[in-house]
Amino acid sequence: MAKIITVQKGTKDILPTEIDSWHFIENAANEVFSNAGYKEIRTPIFEATELFARGVGDTTDIVNKEMYTFEKSERSLTLRPENTAGVVRSYIENGMHRLSAPVKLWYKGPMFRYERPQAGRQRQFHQVGMEMFGIAQPTADAEAISLAVNYLNKIGLNDLDVEINTLGCPTCREEYKKKLKEVLKPYLSELCPDCQKRYEKNPLRLLDCKVEECKAIYEKPEVKKVITSDFVCPECHEHFESVKRYLNILKIKYTVNKLLVRGLDYYNRTVFEIKSNNLGSQNAVCGGGRYDSLVKNLGGEDTPAVGFAMGMERLISLIPKQNENKLDAYVVSTNIEETLKLVSTLRNAGIKVDFDMTSKKFTKQLEKASKLAKYALILGEDEIANGKISVKNLEKSEQVTLKINELKEYLFNCQI
Ligand code: ATP
Ligand code: MG
Repeated sequence: MAKIITVQKGTKDILPTEIDSWHFIENAANEVFSNAGYKEIRTPIFEATELFARGVGDTTDIVNKEMYTFEKSERSLTLRPENTAGVVRSYIENGMHRLSAPVKLWYKGPMFRYERPQAGRQRQFHQVGMEMFGIAQPTADAEAISLAVNYLNKIGLNDLDVEINTLGCPTCREEYKKKLKEVLKPYLSELCPDCQKRYEKNPLRLLDCKVEECKAIYEKPEVKKVITSDFVCPECHEHFESVKRYLNILKIKYTVNKLLVRGLDYYNRTVFEIKSNNLGSQNAVCGGGRYDSLVKNLGGEDTPAVGFAMGMERLISLIPKQNENKLDAYVVSTNIEETLKLVSTLRNAGIKVDFDMTSKKFTKQLEKASKLAKYALILGEDEIANGKISVKNLEKSEQVTLKINELKEYLFNCQI
């Protein structure tokens, strides 16, 4: 029969040999986010297409080119390309605005984007992220950035660049967009086809373009002057100054990148990205920012919010491979009844233990034990007759014989 293989380019199995690394970064997320008062939320993998069209924005690449959309019972559904829109939908639907602010949520799980698969870019990938609702003050922006940095440090990533920028508010941004369009008008025909569309629909996104010819235009002195101008209104300026002040107090190093606008339509004021020099061209591990208008746009009450998302595959590729833990013990015996009893008692006591189900020869079982476990628990007929057990430390090749009722305590004292 023909072999069935994964049909989709850009999808991957996460194999048992890799799973310890996944558990490591997932457990660290649970710990770091819980310590900061966040609760995990799990929303559906598919949602109404309209949620993303409205929530992510129909001028974004995600919505225009990258969504997996399908029809079911005459409804258009989409596999989530990101999780902010889903979390906001859930926040509104479950009346979480009635909870006292801030409402702090975190999530992890698969996302789906129809992109060209390449190193660091898959079509099904995973993100871990947070969303915080209800705080308009710059403290929330700094808290989100510091949470991201703390988490990355916790999993051993210290050598990362934090880039921040402010996009202002809808009012001051309008003025900036106008100026940007004005100064770019003479170059319109030289911009890439995508940027030509963005010019009308979403001129800020022009700055996000990765095409070399476009990037060169943004380096021209008169264009650069507009890009690097401090266009924001006094309130937005003060907000950004406070974010920077808090980051300084927290000793978080950052650079201000005036070209950082982020791909999504919903951001205002602070946006940020965290990048690694060890990732090649797909070098962003984290992206986030403030999105004060999204909850209202999706039908909720006016609620300020901040959030970020990290690409978990990129995190995994940066951390040292986590070693699979060996079993604590492996029972070596040809007496299956006694073995079954012992294994069950030890597992219930929280000891990681396995055994041979086929009653192979002692020597074969011992060989297997030394591959898989730290200790061999030897139950020969002599030991069974005397209520004893021999414990062999497989790393040091030392062996002791104990009374069977002393075993649990002995193993715990060995700090397995
Ligand atoms: P990029 O500019 O790399 O396309 P993005 O702006 O589309 O990034 P976000 O939507 O901000 O990315 O997602 C946050 C993080 O998720 C990214 O920084 C990255 O680490 C990860 N990510 C995004 N798309 C993919 C993908 N297709 N495969 C793997 N990881 C991804
Ligand atoms: Mg993208």
